[in-house]
Amino acid sequence: MKASDKRTKLLDQLNNNEISIEEYWRLIKKGSKPWETAEWKNKRKEYLKDQCENCGSTDNLTIQHGWKPEYSIILSQVQERYITAAMPKLLKRTFSNTAFSKYITKNKKQVKKCPNCQSATLSERSKMKPKFRCIKCHHEFDEPLLKFAIKTDRGYVDIDTNKEYFIEKFAKDDYYSSIRILLQKNKNKIVIEAINLLHESTQRYLAFEGVKTLCKRCAFIEDKDLGYINSK
Ligand SMILES: [Zn+2]
Ligand SMILES: [Zn+2]
Repeated sequence: MKASDKRTKLLDQLNNNEISIEEYWRLIKKGSKPWETAEWKNKRKEYLKDQCENCGSTDNLTIQHGWKPEYSIILSQVQERYITAAMPKLLKRTFSNTAFSKYITKNKKQVKKCPNCQSATLSERSKMKPKFRCIKCHHEFDEPLLKFAIKTDRGYVDIDTNKEYFIEKFAKDDYYSSIRILLQKNKNKIVIEAINLLHESTQRYLAFEGVKTLCKRCAFIEDKDLGYINSK
């Protein structure tokens, strides 16, 4: 069986649930790389013209694809499509007081603060009196302020005086976690769609779609422009 027929058969098996996604990847990787086959090497010769299509040079000619199938890019495009489709629903989510309270309860911590400047960075001293010293304003004291706060990227933020801030943060966190849940729930469907698109893309690549004959120099320049140099 030809390598390309083998790949098509594996894809059919995946689409018909006869093999798992893991099994598919394992078998695909086990098969010979398309560009290592004699079929591919012969085809290259067929498509190779006798001069560089950019500069006309006849030295060191090579076949340039100008693109290649990229699974990670295809996968993120499929994910993007699922997110876009779910967007009207995502944007219609309404604020739920219960969910907000749960969010606060889950994340809140009782924090010791400086009574002078409200900073939460204190040094707690085992022997010295007074027990606490504020790192920020150097105030020393025995009784810290006790506040409920949530750790954010701007430090511990008090809950009671920053409700608006947390409502906004909750909405944002909830939005991103909804997206994570959406992608998780559809993970298999998304991966199978991406594999099908990768297969199509690979078939087009192997059919020499859009190839050019270039000299080594022009090929290097194009590769660099496409950002392929580092990944090769
Ligand atoms: Zn050239
Ligand atoms: Zn202080």
